[in-house]
Amino acid sequence: MRAVITGGAGFLGSHLCDYFIAKGWDVLCLDNLVTGSEANFAHLAGSPKFAFVRHDVSRHIEVPGSVEAVLHFASPASPPDYLKFPIQTLKVGSLGTHNALGLAMAKKAKFLLASTSECYGDPDVSPQPESYWGHVNPIGPRGVYDEAKRFAEAITMAYHRYHGLDTRIVRIFNTYGPRMRLKDGRALPNFLYQALVGEPITVYGDGKQTRSFCYVSDLIEGIYRLFESNEHGPTNIGNPMEITILEFAERVRALVKTSAPIVFEPLPQDDPKQRCPDITKARRILHWEPKVQLAEGLDRTYEFFKQQLASKAQLS
Ligand code: UDP
Repeated sequence: MRAVITGGAGFLGSHLCDYFIAKGWDVLCLDNLVTGSEANFAHLAGSPKFAFVRHDVSRHIEVPGSVEAVLHFASPASPPDYLKFPIQTLKVGSLGTHNALGLAMAKKAKFLLASTSECYGDPDVSPQPESYWGHVNPIGPRGVYDEAKRFAEAITMAYHRYHGLDTRIVRIFNTYGPRMRLKDGRALPNFLYQALVGEPITVYGDGKQTRSFCYVSDLIEGIYRLFESNEHGPTNIGNPMEITILEFAERVRALVKTSAPIVFEPLPQDDPKQRCPDITKARRILHWEPKVQLAEGLDRTYEFFKQQLASKAQLS
């Protein structure tokens, strides 16, 4: 059994490669390394079960041999990244999803789309169930990601309905853990990095906006269960433990025991005021719920960040 994982050099994609290999699959990772890194799969080098091809999946995908699963995870995912690469983000969500679906069709493979809680935009409803259609500004700076993913969901459902393709859609909520880039720009990497190097911790807006952070191992387990299920509709996977960003920054400050101050910076445009997954569906159909508490997940991520900084210091 062989799976093609697009974006397999990224934070989530590389954990997914590990998980599929552990389950006995061969994995072909496709990534153009715009935001991903070969370091994320360096530990798999030499494994007969793993192969990497540098390829931009917004261009036609050609894979010789049989493929039983296509998991489409390629996309910038951090707001600063998709603001830096707006066209690539739109292309990988639209053309990239079309190409990945085409590959799945040609190989008669199962297809899984990595979608996002950003489909709900700045939600009027909280927590967000899958039945909520969202509140998205299509022409705002985040629209390049949100609308690309909404299109990706639409084309995935069209392939399912009109071509009978065996598809899954996971709506991924904020996730954290080892292999996030030190300067990825998202809240947790920023806070941890700033706390570790003693820079002021940047909270955007008044910090009252909320997020719900899921540890990466829980997320990957949920995605695998969805992949194994027969559910074709979008399914939320995330941790419903909601926290304000200011509280989150305080947690990181306390963990690192830094005296670095918290500074308030302007809130980016269209930044969602609240975000929390309703995981009733995942609990019911996948018998899944997150297990790793925030304290434990933060500890593990902190260890990874410390190692990364230490190896960077050694190199320089
Ligand atoms: N945020 C912040 N300081 C930072 C980075 C992010 O206060 O240095 C805020 C951001 O404005 C948002 C929340 O933290 O309200 C989560 O941002 P992130 O980029 O992690 O992901 P998002 O959920 O917005 O996609």
